[in-house]
Amino acid sequence: MDVVLVALAGLLLGALLNLVIIRLPREQGFGGWPRCTRCGQRLAWWQVLPVLGWLVQGGRARCCGQRLDVLHPLVDLITAGTLALLYFQHRLSISMVYGATVAAVLIVTGAIDWQHRLIYTLPTLGATFAAVLVAFAIPHHSLLNALAGMVVAGVLFVIFYLLARVLFPAHRAPFGLGDVYLGMFIGAALGLTNLPGALLYGMLLAGAFSAVLVAVRRIGKRDVPQYISYGTFLCIGALMYLLIWGLAGARPLL
Ligand SMILES: [Zn+2]
Repeated sequence: MDVVLVALAGLLLGALLNLVIIRLPREQGFGGWPRCTRCGQRLAWWQVLPVLGWLVQGGRARCCGQRLDVLHPLVDLITAGTLALLYFQHRLSISMVYGATVAAVLIVTGAIDWQHRLIYTLPTLGATFAAVLVAFAIPHHSLLNALAGMVVAGVLFVIFYLLARVLFPAHRAPFGLGDVYLGMFIGAALGLTNLPGALLYGMLLAGAFSAVLVAVRRIGKRDVPQYISYGTFLCIGALMYLLIWGLAGARPLL
């Protein structure tokens, strides 16, 4: 029963994360009633409801009839599922609060990168340093583990970044500096001990998704994106790793 309550709280948290995902890239303040992402009209209360608002409108804004991004109800559902799983594993504890905070950063970063191909420097680095600062107080984590994770991920991703610049000099870099900062956050938040697993999940997901895109293009579909948002897959991979293994393999689900 209490897991249901936690999942409902997760839906509300997801709505809050969506507010950040919608407003941060548009440089709007966080005050004021939500407006339609397409036409800017004030939304009715029921349109704002997590998942339900999108479902009731059938994926199209009631005000202007334009398509609403399915990413937003997905964020609601992922956040709710994340919170329920963390509660199932840790009950109400520091581990749960920490896991939920890390998950929130990953979900917001992954969603904004998916929509805008953009990873913010200052918020990502700020979250990285915050993770290092609190690491000593988190069970199965430590200052050393966080610092080592941050440095190793940073060095590794700078190498990836330079390789991408050399290999694809003409293109818009498929692997940007934002991915380097995101890698540092994942390293600091999960620690060096969990970094290889977390990165592996993300890279496998990105590889699988790229393979699907190539296959779909072969079939002859033209409107297939040329690039994937690599950061989105790093975020999903790290989140999956955190939910399956926890920071110390705490009661693995798989
Ligand atoms: Zn509208």
